[in-house]
Formats: sequence, C-alpha cells, structure tokens
Amino acid sequence: MKGEQQKPIWTCLMFNNAARPKACFTMWIMLNQRLLTVDRLAHWGIEVEKICVMCKNEEETAEDLFIQCNYARRIWERLLSSIERQTEAPMTWEQFVQWCIMHGKGKRAATQLFKFILAEGIYGLWMERNNRIFDQKSRNEEQLVKEIVYITIVRTQHLAVK
Ligand SMILES: [Zn+2]
Repeated sequence: MKGEQQKPIWTCLMFNNAARPKACFTMWIMLNQRLLTVDRLAHWGIEVEKICVMCKNEEETAEDLFIQCNYARRIWERLLSSIERQTEAPMTWEQFVQWCIMHGKGKRAATQLFKFILAEGIYGLWMERNNRIFDQKSRNEEQLVKEIVYITIVRTQHLAVK
C-alpha cells in the first residue's frame, strides 16, 4: 500500500524489551543484517582478517557469529537454560529469525525474559567479538553468560512481581 511503511516482522522483539537500550539497538541492527561483520567489510573493499575470532574456524558472517559458531551455540544453550526455556536455537539465519519471533511474541513474563536474553545475548556476542578484535581481550562462555544473567536479574526484577 502506498505511503504505508512495512514494519519488519521482528518489531515485537523490540517492544517493551527491558534489555539495555544499547542491547536492543544492537539486536535491531543485527536483525536488519547491518552489523559490519568482515564479509560485509569485504564488499566495501576493506581487507581484514576473515576468520571468526570466536571459533577461529569459519569465515566471519552474521550467521556464523550469532548462530552457527560454537561459541554462540554455547552462549544460547546456557542462556536458554538460565531462563528455563526448553528450546534450542536453530542453525540458519531464516530459522533463527522465525524462532525469535515465535518465542518473543506476546506479553507473558516468560516471553519478556526471552526477548531480554535475546537482545543481551546478541549484544554480548557482538561486544565479545569487538573486544577480541580491537583490544585482544577475551572471555570464555561462562564469564559472558554470568554477566548477562546478572544484568537480567537486576533489570527484570519488576517482571516477576507484575
Ligand atoms: Zn565462529
């Protein structure tokens, strides 16, 4: 329809998300496939190390970094179990987006928690990747998950009493 802006289907993930604004923002850019991963830098003619700094195995793409990478797999597995979600993150970009929407739609507290760890998980993975590239600093999965779980507890306390 003319003049009507088509909203991306993942808008529900942004709405009422208690995650930190910078985490929601990063999730938004990630879902729009606009984060500057090395495969995208290469399109701009910028030469950088192509191997993913997390698994040191695959070429860095958003699909690897956030979904298929061993590091990301372990982060999602631990985060999902921390909120007692009996589900596994799928392995392809398309399926991942559908999965996010399926679990992130609605108003229940469990849904709010899912959206929260989704945004903070994406943000955590992106920051970890940047720290490794630019600061040569790295954390293992356990340290990163601990930090995200801590942020979750602090920021979602109000969800439980509602
Ligand atoms: Zn990787």
